[in-house]
Amino acid sequence: MTFAFAFAPPATAKVAIHNSSVSFPVHRIYCVGRNYAAHAREMGSDPDREPPFFFCKPADAVWPINPSSEISSLAPLPYASATTDLHHEIELVVAIGTGGREIPQGSALEYVWGYGVGLDMTRRDLQAGLKKKGQPWEIGKAFDQSAPVSPLMPVSQCGHPGNGRIWLNVNDQLKQEGDIADMIWSVPEIIQHLSTYFDLQPGDLIFTGTPEGVGPVRPGDRLTGGIAGLCEISLTIGEDCA
Ligand code: MN
Repeated sequence: MTFAFAFAPPATAKVAIHNSSVSFPVHRIYCVGRNYAAHAREMGSDPDREPPFFFCKPADAVWPINPSSEISSLAPLPYASATTDLHHEIELVVAIGTGGREIPQGSALEYVWGYGVGLDMTRRDLQAGLKKKGQPWEIGKAFDQSAPVSPLMPVSQCGHPGNGRIWLNVNDQLKQEGDIADMIWSVPEIIQHLSTYFDLQPGDLIFTGTPEGVGPVRPGDRLTGGIAGLCEISLTIGEDCA
């Protein structure tokens, strides 16, 4: 008796690794909400009173689907269906290399494999409606291709960046700017909190929140962003996928 699959299982989602021919297999994508005070305020929240909160995207929301370390030759990111207000959120992405639960803050960085920069693409119109009704955020946040990620840099190459300018340009115009030192919850604090709710696994990605200046994109827009001393992401927005 064999236990074959009823049909071919889906391919493992993966992200490119900087200057490498191997890929980083993605287990889960966790995201931190409102982790920069100025962005929390622009979303109408009081950043001082709220503990970190988390939401998820499916692993196969990463983009590009067939990654290489060449970010200059990517196909356009499809404009998401069912929205007229698709927003960019540039974020530091933490890649977990060692699993664990209830990880203490003091040793949290030992669980990190590397870092990247990503875009937490958001259907802002749908998210706003869901927030009003107290409904879950999935259709506003966890849709297909909602998590573009740059090639990752291993800790052996970039260390653990505690500060650095994070920015996003749309058509060469600066839209988002901050410093990762301004995150309300630091990477070790995020790992500590998150690992009380989930067993972290190798292959988990954590989007750590966005600085102020989020806004809409349109088909044809060119997005370039990055984190100083770390990595950059560059893509164009394609036509409606509908
Ligand atoms: Mn975000």
